[in-house]
Amino acid sequence: MPHGHPIGVDVGLEKFLATSDGVLVKSPKFLKVMQSKLKLLQRRLSRKNKRSKNYKKQRIKVARLHHAIDNTRKDFHFKQAHALCDSGDMIFMEDLDYRTLAKGMLGQAMLDAGFGQFRTITKYVCWKRGKFFSEVNSRGTSQECPECGVEVKKDLSVRVHHCHSCNYTTDRDVASGQVIRNRGIELQRTAGYVGIQNAYADGLPGIEMSQSRSKSKTRKGTTRKSKK
Ligand SMILES: [Zn+2]
Repeated sequence: MPHGHPIGVDVGLEKFLATSDGVLVKSPKFLKVMQSKLKLLQRRLSRKNKRSKNYKKQRIKVARLHHAIDNTRKDFHFKQAHALCDSGDMIFMEDLDYRTLAKGMLGQAMLDAGFGQFRTITKYVCWKRGKFFSEVNSRGTSQECPECGVEVKKDLSVRVHHCHSCNYTTDRDVASGQVIRNRGIELQRTAGYVGIQNAYADGLPGIEMSQSRSKSKTRKGTTRKSKK
């Protein structure tokens, strides 16, 4: 059940993650080092004669390093997921399909970061520790002001969110995390869990509006049903 302190989590390549509470975690350097070493080993492998003894030896080296990278990444993801659960009770992430994104421009880097795996692990750790986890609509999370909700357009090079409407200024990724958190709260609210209001959502802008909107929706729904 949703309860307590909500955290919106934005994942990315610039930083591994940013939370709505302003926590920033850099992408781990040790993985990058390992990955460049892997490329080196693979290059050596490609120069070796297939079916030779050296080829077999080299192939084992590559496989071992692959394995080590997978483990190191998984370990990092688990640590981050636990850290999130340490600091919050509800974790919200975007419902992005990272595999589709990986087919685009940022391909290999996206796959190397393993965002899909991180989300799966976070979901699992939340379940294990009795925390609430939910995915939210990812559309335009980086282009919206978390304080007043207006659209603040910025391309990837702009690292700071500065709202021209309400003057709210914060790190770009933190702002995304806060939008994700707001959407998570909104989602639970429309799903009918009003208890969260006391925990956090009280002070959020736009909550009153959205509340009346969702109420009127349900009212319409019931009248339609009663006509039948
Ligand atoms: Zn604003």
